[in-house]
Amino acid sequence: RRAEFAAMRDLPPCSKDAKRITLMVNAGLRDDVAALDVTGADGIGLFRTEFQFLVSATLPRRETQQRLYRDVLESAGDRPVIFRTVDIGGDKALPYMKGGDDEDREENPAMGWRAIRLALDRDALMKAQARALIEAAAGRTLNVMFPMVSEPWEFDQAQALFEAQRAWVAGRNRAVPHAIRYGTMLEVPALAEMLDVLLPKLDFLSIGTNDLTQFLFAADRAHPKLAERYDWLSPAILRFLARVAKQTIAAGVQIGGCGEMGGRTLEAMALIGLGIERLSITPAAIGPVKAMIRSLDVAALRAEMPAWLASGTHDMRGVLSGWAAEQGV
Ligand code: PEP
Ligand code: MG
Repeated sequence: RRAEFAAMRDLPPCSKDAKRITLMVNAGLRDDVAALDVTGADGIGLFRTEFQFLVSATLPRRETQQRLYRDVLESAGDRPVIFRTVDIGGDKALPYMKGGDDEDREENPAMGWRAIRLALDRDALMKAQARALIEAAAGRTLNVMFPMVSEPWEFDQAQALFEAQRAWVAGRNRAVPHAIRYGTMLEVPALAEMLDVLLPKLDFLSIGTNDLTQFLFAADRAHPKLAERYDWLSPAILRFLARVAKQTIAAGVQIGGCGEMGGRTLEAMALIGLGIERLSITPAAIGPVKAMIRSLDVAALRAEMPAWLASGTHDMRGVLSGWAAEQGV
């Protein structure tokens, strides 16, 4: 079906009942940006900036960061790019930074000193990245997203740090982005309890289903013995996502998903059924997910979802795949 997916490159991800879904790609290095043209995606919904740090032998200088961000924005043209600030630390420790040596080794790196936690504590790193992003996006819209936010105050601090850098650059009469849109990932379940406080501050929310499901089920996302144990289509996850989506949409905040879950056709169908109409996925999944969307009646699916979720069935995968087969999705 490869040729079939390639032929769909220029067709919109539009459902049978004319619902336009936004399909974006996940990226992390300069070369990944080519995937935009290959797949015909709507933009980059997750640019993992830590990749540049991970492949480098030394801490990338601000100028080096800025050059990468500018290249990515230029290749993307009018298509939006969401830059996620560094998600390092824990199991993505950098050898050239303190925190990566034996003395600081963590028992539970995924739940450790990583991402926004490290970035707010070591704010020189985050300030340099903010400057690099702000200067690279001069004259454009800059979309920034913070990883592993657990409480709203972490978002506030990160945003304030960016705003201070914007003021600093503007104060030197240098060009700044014409707008900065701020978002956060939802990866830590605690944050979902604070959405009423968080949402008014946000331009967008993006669900990171990789970490979110690991923390919801208390199950290491990389543990081979657990890989098959908990299903992304389990009722607990879907109910959780249904509540988050409903609350976010009601607050008028843009919601998307950027974990691996959205790159599988049945899972992507479920996310759309829950109201999540922006998916950022691995480039190879764009074709299959687009084909699914083009054969889907979104309204018909949404009419069924609440009863399925309320039914208490464990086998949501069976229910969803049965419906999809019946509908020719
Ligand atoms: C996630 O956790 O779902 C996510 C998209 O981030 P990462 O996979 O980089 O942790
Ligand atoms: Mg994550």
